[in-house]
Amino acid sequence: MTAVHSTRMLILGSGPAGLSAAIYGARAGLAPIVVQGLQPGGQLTITTDVENYPGFRDVIQGPWLMEEMQAQAEHVGATMVWDTIVEVDLSERPFRLKGDGGTVYVCDTLVIATGAQAKWLGAPGEAELGGKGVSACATCDGFFYRGKRVAVIGGGNTAVEEALYLTNHSHEVTLIHRRDSLRAEKILQERLFKHPNIKVIWNKQVARFIEGEGAAGLVAIELEDTRDGSISQVAVEGGFVAIGHSPATELFKGSGLTLDKEGYITVRAGTSLTNIPGVFACGDVADKVYRQAVTAAGTGCMAALDAERFLQAADFPVPEDEVAGHPIDPAIEHAE
Ligand code: FAD
Ligand code: NAP
Repeated sequence: MTAVHSTRMLILGSGPAGLSAAIYGARAGLAPIVVQGLQPGGQLTITTDVENYPGFRDVIQGPWLMEEMQAQAEHVGATMVWDTIVEVDLSERPFRLKGDGGTVYVCDTLVIATGAQAKWLGAPGEAELGGKGVSACATCDGFFYRGKRVAVIGGGNTAVEEALYLTNHSHEVTLIHRRDSLRAEKILQERLFKHPNIKVIWNKQVARFIEGEGAAGLVAIELEDTRDGSISQVAVEGGFVAIGHSPATELFKGSGLTLDKEGYITVRAGTSLTNIPGVFACGDVADKVYRQAVTAAGTGCMAALDAERFLQAADFPVPEDEVAGHPIDPAIEHAE
């Protein structure tokens, strides 16, 4: 017997985008179901201090912020489901999705908020020093390296922007790139090259991240020359890996949903509308530029409002047991 959940709004992902969509969707009486995925709360649950989410003068903790968002979403009527979607059929409405335990989700609108994950080098010491010197987000963690030496690894727009950003906090920023030219836009390169506090190390890849004695965290990065294999070291307290992100969209390949060449979901500019009517995308899964909790939350709100308007315009029949002003039980569970 297969469990089936039917809902007017299904949200994939429980990061800031998904939970913000849930808050707005629930307050619109749509009784959304949120499928939380393997990382309930999303990326902010793997960090500690968050200092740039508006509304908090004091430093807050990422996991705490996400617990609060979830509690707020549940308080206004969203239902959390601990499941991961493994199959989607977006060929007709209502859409049908399947969880990894076989549960089926049927929905009139789908909000995709599955996020993106930073790519890592896989070099020795990288995972061990995560949060102790190694990071993949300068905007998030740069502040903790005020007055310290930092390095950025990568040669794309993100790496160059992160190096430039880090000069706000550090007077000694090193960009480490595996080739002898950058792929970043020319205008960014010009800014980088003329910045007095940024040095570029060419043709080197990270051999390992070196931990200091005791609780010193990162103290240096060992580099290997990509031409002759020679080994050298650069002394830094912060190492920012900026070699790209992977949007969590594997699931949608072949579903008819338009993805760009890097796999991000394409949305109509200034909206959360995808190419499939009734499917909306928000947060990092559709954003390779800003990638912040507050922008994810903002676009999550947009997705819920867009979905609500879509349902109104599509004039979907209101389920019989819905009483005006009182959303129906979100999970109409039955057997198929
Ligand atoms: P995510 O937070 O990535 O959430 C994605 C959600 O989708 C997860 O719940 C996951 O379980 C779910 N999911 C994925 N696949 C499936 C599936 N198949 N089925 C169901 N669910 C699925 N930003 C800031 O503004 N300030 C900071 O200080 C800050 N610090 C950061 C520190 C670190 C270490 C990292 C990695 C990021 C940081 N960021 C910070 C960035 C911020 O966390 C992201 O921009 C934000 O979390 C993106 O939100 P999202 O909801 O789009 O996606
Ligand atoms: P990217 O363009 O894919 O660049 C990744 C960089 O990391 C490349 O220089 C690559 O080196 C390097 N790299 C990859 N794997 C590596 C490894 N294992 N070891 C060492 N180096 C490695 O990624 P991105 O910079 O994150 O940008 C992603 C997309 O977002 C791009 O389309 C970019 O234009 C866009 N973006 C735009 C803006 C903006 O418009 N302001 C800002 C940020 C990002 P090689 O060059 O040798 O391949």
